[in-house]
Amino acid sequence: MHEHDHSSTDSCPDSHASLGRRDLLRGAVVLGIGAAGATIAAPGVAAAAPADPPSLAPDPEAPADAPPGAAAGVEVAVPTIASCATWGAAAARGTIDAVAANPNKILIHHTASANVTDYSQAAGYQIARDIQQWHFANGWVDTGQHLTLSRGGYVMEGRHGSLSRLQSGSGTVVGAHAPGQNSQAIGIENQGTYTSATPPAQLWSRLVELCAYICDQYGIAPTQIYGHRDYTATACPGDVLYSMLPQLRSEVAAALSGTSWSVIVDNTSAGFSAGSSWLTSSFSGERYGADYRYATPAEVSDLATYSATIPSSGSYRVEAWFPGIDGYNTSTPFIVYTGTGSSTIRVDQSTGGGAWLSLGTYAMTAGTRTVVAVSRWTQGTAYVVADAIRLTRL
Ligand SMILES: [Zn+2]
Repeated sequence: MHEHDHSSTDSCPDSHASLGRRDLLRGAVVLGIGAAGATIAAPGVAAAAPADPPSLAPDPEAPADAPPGAAAGVEVAVPTIASCATWGAAAARGTIDAVAANPNKILIHHTASANVTDYSQAAGYQIARDIQQWHFANGWVDTGQHLTLSRGGYVMEGRHGSLSRLQSGSGTVVGAHAPGQNSQAIGIENQGTYTSATPPAQLWSRLVELCAYICDQYGIAPTQIYGHRDYTATACPGDVLYSMLPQLRSEVAAALSGTSWSVIVDNTSAGFSAGSSWLTSSFSGERYGADYRYATPAEVSDLATYSATIPSSGSYRVEAWFPGIDGYNTSTPFIVYTGTGSSTIRVDQSTGGGAWLSLGTYAMTAGTRTVVAVSRWTQGTAYVVADAIRLTRL
């Protein structure tokens, strides 16, 4: 959702600047996505896997010169991006301005539309056409954002002219997605509402890939990825997606460096397991994804475990993400399993949350197994917390 680009008459009737989640969801219905037969999914409801996942195309036109931020010789994956003609955009209703200078940042948005469970390409294209009509209704000449990403991971051109300039790595069209940033920030709209729901994995992995490609093409540092709310008073891109931007920057940086294999296991991932004494909370905004698990300390063997497939024997950095709250345990045992042994690291969870905390670097053997566990066996009464872990090959 967007404020409009007529800054002199900024009276956009559907600005989401001060809308809460209920308003955003109501807005999605008013704006007509429901007319396509979709329903608003309850936050956190798992969606079906896409029937027809998008494929990666080779990069026939990769620039010869690696821009700043990309290591020499690193091939950045090029996502398939459907042009306006491919997804069936209407013609622009006026002149689209362009600038010669390259954009200097990426702004992440959500469309505040329904969290559809139809992950098909056709569904993504239809929502893109709906968005264009909403933006025409704002009096805009065309779709406001430069690029659109569907919940099934399909990438689409937004405003006409965005794609050819991105592919050439030179200049961009002036968008209408964030006042003051429209000529210098590439706007990406993620279809859905991420105030309390976590983006589907298909969307997330494609978003990482897309941002890495944009950074590579324009020479933008991955640290220059922001949320709409960083520049405008708005709920966009939703609390959950906004809380994942540090992770987005980190994963984009890894993609650009070309050296890292990385995996994240969240407490909602298939690789996570914990008994019934581990309760679920979304209390802290420093959580990773939609929620996290917590338990009281006890001298029992009742681990919350994270399993993953280590692709090859080598050196891996192990990190944990948790909300750091005064009152959570100051000595939570994290156990790292290397394949040949284990190490226990005590973590102070009363502070320093909402970011990846390194538990150290370990020599790990290849294979699928429990790689990290959180134990309840510690002192005091303050909760121990199990949220997300990340492994990165070094
Ligand atoms: Zn926005």
